[in-house]
Amino acid sequence: MNKSSALRDILKRIDHRGYPAYKDTAGQYDFGGYTLSIDHVQGDPFAAPSKVSVHMSGRQAGFPPALYDKPCKKTALEDYLIRRFERAAAQYSFKAKGSGKSGLIAASRCGQEVLCRSACQIEPGNGSLIFRMEIGFPANGRSINASELEKILFDFLPECVGGNLAYASLDARQLEKNAFLAEDQQYIRSQLEPMGLVAFVANGAVLPRESGVSSRPMKNAVLFTSPKELEVTMQLPHRGAIQGMGIPKGVTLIVGGGYHGKSTLLEALQLGVYNHIAGDGREYVITDDTAMKIRAEDGRSVQRVNISMFINGLPNGRDTSAFCTENASGSTSQAANVCEAVEAGCKTLLIDEDTSATNFMIRDELMQSVVSKDAEPITPFIDRVLQLYEQFGVSTVLVAGSSGSYFYKAAHIIQMKQYVPADITSFAKEKAAAFRRPEPEAGELEPAEMQCRRRICANSRMQKNDRIKIKVSGKDTILIDKEPIDVRYVEQLADQEQLAALGYMMRYAHRYLINGKSELHSVAEALSRLAQKEDFMELGRGSYVPVNMAMPRKQEIFACLNRYRSLRLEG
Ligand code: ADP
Ligand code: MG
Repeated sequence: MNKSSALRDILKRIDHRGYPAYKDTAGQYDFGGYTLSIDHVQGDPFAAPSKVSVHMSGRQAGFPPALYDKPCKKTALEDYLIRRFERAAAQYSFKAKGSGKSGLIAASRCGQEVLCRSACQIEPGNGSLIFRMEIGFPANGRSINASELEKILFDFLPECVGGNLAYASLDARQLEKNAFLAEDQQYIRSQLEPMGLVAFVANGAVLPRESGVSSRPMKNAVLFTSPKELEVTMQLPHRGAIQGMGIPKGVTLIVGGGYHGKSTLLEALQLGVYNHIAGDGREYVITDDTAMKIRAEDGRSVQRVNISMFINGLPNGRDTSAFCTENASGSTSQAANVCEAVEAGCKTLLIDEDTSATNFMIRDELMQSVVSKDAEPITPFIDRVLQLYEQFGVSTVLVAGSSGSYFYKAAHIIQMKQYVPADITSFAKEKAAAFRRPEPEAGELEPAEMQCRRRICANSRMQKNDRIKIKVSGKDTILIDKEPIDVRYVEQLADQEQLAALGYMMRYAHRYLINGKSELHSVAEALSRLAQKEDFMELGRGSYVPVNMAMPRKQEIFACLNRYRSLRLEG
């Protein structure tokens, strides 16, 4: 391998030359404590920054296997290192000057969730480490400013790497705490199923966030306390006993006056499919990791989804067992979201009345007597919620502040009162019994009603296109060759980097998975396996490994495919 001095020589030679001469720097260089790899050099100072990675052998990184010998600990360690590095790099970023993106140093901007990211990957077999980042190679106008890059690669980067990525320079106690938290979180997750729960919310948790634009914990929030009736204790391997609210499987209703913290609780459950960092307040809010937020999503496209359990006999005579539309209504979009969630393996539906279509959720008695059943294509969710659980094992946690109809269906009713939950099940049931008898549920559900064959037709234009461009805008849109996939209402996409990975996944699907007519289901499963294996290298096949990516869940992979309009689906 080249010595680092070879890189210095190249930099001297190309200084002041035209920007493309920077391409000569690509390659690997031994920096003593690590290998620096220049993987991809940007074409000009205004293009996306260059991709650079740092490689350390197990011996160079020096982490004891106890810090990464389980997937949850490995991800937590990687996350810890990324945050350390990023904090250090922020001090040096743009300290080297020049035009365009000159001087940028960035690996990943992590939020509150602990996700598997391409920025840092530890090899579980031998403890070796790869750290990937972007660096803006400095220029004056369009000519190379090599002495500024020399500063970055020979002064700044060794500081960031040496002080933050090697075990010897880190606080061993902190690292251990970080690993212990991950193991405790994983333990709670593993206990949900045997304890018959869909979620656990620890006493003392801080659920509300600082503001609508900040996901840090609210200061001086009312701490969560479980109602006694729902309180469960878990013996965590490190922290010891912990108490909190266990939300049982089945149908659970969250009620309460406006502004009493209902949606805040549901939002915490939504993100409880991920682990959170120490200090977040939701460290011990853990939800069944197949759970999906279900909401109305007017305008989305729906392709060949069997929504007949909810919608039948539309006035235009359209077939709802393979329903298609380019522009779904509130109710049809929410129906499709439920059916697709079940297809994606979701076992817990999370629904907030605030973001639901009323006519999808309920039909009150008066309306039933005025508009007869045969003039109404919608079988509301309330008539299916118990069947979904009893026949398919799909639980529902539902926030409803304005309609009492679900009192009849819920096994547990929680009232939020000034941010404190109370179990009001028996009181509410008593009231409900005195009110009226519940309507019988709609007819039995056939298992066949859940599925509908969906095959993706190969798109030769995309398959031949070896320069499919991927762009991401915030947490809203993924652009695949300029075609937008609107994911703004896929609320459990927690991080822009997950959108970037989804973009690469769509491209990967075009190139390697979709041939002839491939089942949508198997394409989604194949992509999920890549995510499970954390195989960023395969995602970037044929090119450098992408940076700034975080793996999404299987459920969001399905959600993305389902919203990708130009994927043509057939039976
Ligand atoms: P609801 O859905 O019942 O109308 P929200 O969950 O939207 O109520 O909460 C209303 C407001 O109260 C929000 O601004 C939220 O940040 C705040 N809030 C929620 N939970 C707490 C809490 N535990 N302590 C302090 N403020 C809270
Ligand atoms: Mg609300």
